[in-house]
Amino acid sequence: MPVVTRNPATGEVLATYDAHDEAGVEAALAATYAASQAWAATPLDDRLALLHGVGKLLTERREEYAALITAEMGKPLAESLGEVDKCAWNCEVVADLAPGWLADHEVASGASRSWLSYEPLGVVFAVMPWNFPFWQVLRFASAALAAGNAALLKHSPDVTGSALAIEELFADAGAPAGLFRSLVVAAEDVAEVSRRIVEDPRVAAVTLTGSERAGSAIAAVAGAAIKKTVLELGGSDPFVVLADADLEAAAATAVKARFTNTGQSCVCAKRFIVHEDVADAFVERFVDHMALLEPAPMAREDLRDGILRQVSETVAQGARLVVGGRAIDAPGWYVEPTLLTDVEPGMTAFDEETFGPVATITRARDDDHAVELANATTFGLGASVWGSSDRALAVGRRIRSGALFVNAMVASDPRLPFGGIGRSGYGRELSAEGVREFTNVRTVVVA
Ligand code: NDP
Repeated sequence: MPVVTRNPATGEVLATYDAHDEAGVEAALAATYAASQAWAATPLDDRLALLHGVGKLLTERREEYAALITAEMGKPLAESLGEVDKCAWNCEVVADLAPGWLADHEVASGASRSWLSYEPLGVVFAVMPWNFPFWQVLRFASAALAAGNAALLKHSPDVTGSALAIEELFADAGAPAGLFRSLVVAAEDVAEVSRRIVEDPRVAAVTLTGSERAGSAIAAVAGAAIKKTVLELGGSDPFVVLADADLEAAAATAVKARFTNTGQSCVCAKRFIVHEDVADAFVERFVDHMALLEPAPMAREDLRDGILRQVSETVAQGARLVVGGRAIDAPGWYVEPTLLTDVEPGMTAFDEETFGPVATITRARDDDHAVELANATTFGLGASVWGSSDRALAVGRRIRSGALFVNAMVASDPRLPFGGIGRSGYGRELSAEGVREFTNVRTVVVA
């Protein structure tokens, strides 16, 4: 089956790609496996020189890559430029700090010497989504390659042009043949092809960013094959506003935290939990900041239809539609930035992840109630809490999540680990923890 990409701003076809057939998948697997063997024996300095080169090329080609991202998944060009720049920054951070992250770690044990060494695993298979076509891939690949592994990517078909551009980027930066390969797989074949790849003895580990459905499917196959997985899945992040918060700063950041990437990010703030004493004032400011938003298309038609279903169900369940709520009558897959208030647990937009430009406001009676509401989710990616710092930190400590940000929005940073708990997945990306996920933490004892 060929893979067809479309421009979300118009619905028009962008390009058609031939998918890899069985022989093509086999050739890619053989090439990445061979490359992984040589790369594991390559000195760390040389491995990191490649990442410096990739970072440099990303900066040189930032406009070209940003235009491709915007064409394939619809985010505003300024955000695409920001994504490419962040990828370049991440490459530099990994290249600079990985010597410390991967250095032998001495541990006193009674032996004359004992230490941990971080050794490569082999080929890491990556299944990645469309929402940050470059960032999701570069984030994983920089860590995997620094640690001495090779990378085999199965990107979302929606961003096949980006997948192939990234393969070319690594080759142009001087990566040995086969070290980074992109597979083109039609959506109809993804489960079967992924299963075969995960089961293949030449593949050592798997990382997936995407939905719970995809994560659960791939982890089941990897579990049966006894292979390590890292899962970075969805989120329904709480953004808690306490009674003593700086409301103007909170509202301005809240709108950014919800609507960046047209709401299509796992760490977008999705449930705004606001102390009832300040809720009206917060909503007023939130609406003011929403008025400044420029609508951008959602990445796919079915994703647009899905978010509109969540809005209409939540309104039918008793929520109040304050702003937006409809598709925009234009070509492409646009949804009006939307605000729902009076949202309660049990309503669709509270219970499900909303992956689009829809904010929900829920009132809390007090700090205990805010904690209870924040934890009323199966997810646990990030949490943002606003208020005087001691009080906000005390509330934040009681919320279950992989990250806590006080008086700031949740955002990833190459120097800090990133990942979730519960149905948001497990394992960490970025920083020392992310680089070490795809290593054999080997114990060495010299008597
Ligand atoms: P998916 O999880 O289906 O897609 C993510 C990646 O997983 C794609 O490459 C996809 O390929 C692949 N995939 C899907 N099923 C399997 C499988 N059985 N085996 C192996 N790979 C698989 O996300 P959608 O694009 O359908 O988006 C749906 C929802 O997922 C969103 O509304 C959001 O809730 C969540 N999501 C979360 C993201 C995050 O950053 N954590 C990113 C994107 C989505 P293919 O497209 O060919 O099926």
